[in-house]
Amino acid sequence: MFREVQTVCPFCGVGCRMTLRVLGGRVEWVYPAEVGVNEGKLCIKGWCAHEFIHHPDRLARPLLREDRGKEFEVGSWDLALSRIQQSLSVVLEETGPESVAFLSSAKCTNEDNYALQKFARAVVGTPHIDHCARL
Ligand code: SF4
Repeated sequence: MFREVQTVCPFCGVGCRMTLRVLGGRVEWVYPAEVGVNEGKLCIKGWCAHEFIHHPDRLARPLLREDRGKEFEVGSWDLALSRIQQSLSVVLEETGPESVAFLSSAKCTNEDNYALQKFARAVVGTPHIDHCARL
């Protein structure tokens, strides 16, 4: 039996409303909601909005390497976040916040993207943040 979840397409600023059909914990289908700005329609990106969620190539765990010439290996989130924090601290100290830029993705949730821009602006202090949906 499908479960239906109402949501908003994350791929651009139009904010089309859509319904996800979920079966066994997997999003199997998406279709447009009759209400909202999209009035029962989606563009091709919206119709395919669910395809990446369970894709086998999706990066689900951090890949780390010791040096540039080495192979990537699966690592822990704690180690990955620790390395990011250390590297970011060094860059901020040496060249300042405006030397840092953040790139986000429409394949994250809107809430994730909001949190990232808040982190970039309010915590790191850089105005340099961009997102693929701007294109
Ligand atoms: S990408 Fe398409 S479906 Fe998604 S919000 Fe934008 S116009 Fe709507």
